[in-house]
Amino acid sequence: MPAHLLQDEMASSYTTTTTITEPPSRKLQNGDGKLEKNLLYAEEDIRPEMKDDIHDPSYKDPEGPKPKLVYVWRNIILMGLLHLGALYGITLVPTCKVYTWLWGVFYYMISALGITAGAHRLWSHRSYKARLPLRLFLIIANTMAFQNDAYEWARDHRAHHKFSETDADPHNARRGFFFSHVGWLLVRKHPAVKEKGGSLDLSDLKAEKLVMFQRRYYKPAVLVMCFIMPTLVPWYFWGETFQHSLCVATLLRYAIVLNATWLVNSAAHLYGYRPYDKTINPRENLLVSLGAVGEGFHNYHHTFPYDYSASEYRWHINFTTFFIDCMAALGLAYDRKKVSKEAVLARVKRTGDGSYKSG
Ligand SMILES: [Zn+2]
Ligand SMILES: [Zn+2]
Repeated sequence: MPAHLLQDEMASSYTTTTTITEPPSRKLQNGDGKLEKNLLYAEEDIRPEMKDDIHDPSYKDPEGPKPKLVYVWRNIILMGLLHLGALYGITLVPTCKVYTWLWGVFYYMISALGITAGAHRLWSHRSYKARLPLRLFLIIANTMAFQNDAYEWARDHRAHHKFSETDADPHNARRGFFFSHVGWLLVRKHPAVKEKGGSLDLSDLKAEKLVMFQRRYYKPAVLVMCFIMPTLVPWYFWGETFQHSLCVATLLRYAIVLNATWLVNSAAHLYGYRPYDKTINPRENLLVSLGAVGEGFHNYHHTFPYDYSASEYRWHINFTTFFIDCMAALGLAYDRKKVSKEAVLARVKRTGDGSYKSG
């Protein structure tokens, strides 16, 4: 079957309701205290149970002096060592066994899915639902990726959407490329992140036993899944040297997944067009999508955070959507939320920057 037919076939069970309602956060208080409709933001309500990842434009940074940066030296040293090890790993790539190279790529893909299909599209945005075997796979893959446990990742990410590009956004891109890329992990969190992050509704995550189980055993689990296992397998099964196993399959692979994810927060907030909403900074960046297996359609994603594809399209430079669709074909993923074409086009017309190409 040609790819586009297969894609349509697998897409046949999307949820695309067309009820036009008004998300609560978009209501504006007018002068006499009456709620007034803000028609500019009226959007399809395709995910009524989750609202705490919808941008709240009413939240603004308070005036006044900014708090001093407090460096977290432990993270600076560990991150420095990781990147030195990864750079050394690059020099070892030509002398690696082919299986080690394949193992590294395999580990990269699986751990990337643990972030994109797991922590991001499932646990942060609830843009689709997953049955237990898939959630089990995703929590293991997510542990392989070591980017904080899924609960913490989702909390930070909901704050990133709701309070986008304010001090309450953990990786506020207004503080520059370096801060939004990695700097935010090397300093103490801004007090606004803690304050506003604490106000988010995370009851769905607290109620999910698997997510809380990962959180409880996170440190030993990461040690095994992100460091020990990827190093031991090539060394034990095909006689790779310990040095090649550690520096290529583990350190280099881990550093690449980290940087690919961070580029979504840095590059995709700075470089690219804004066809869906020119009033926000996130942008469409195909290169980021390539590295981050489908997460670079960032103007779309911040405009419609509840769309399971994180893109207007489905399999276009989007391995994560391909993966979720395959899981749906197996009956392991369901209730995939997709914004209707009409709603997208209406939004493009209303707030786009004019770069939109239909097709
Ligand atoms: Zn973003
Ligand atoms: Zn997101």
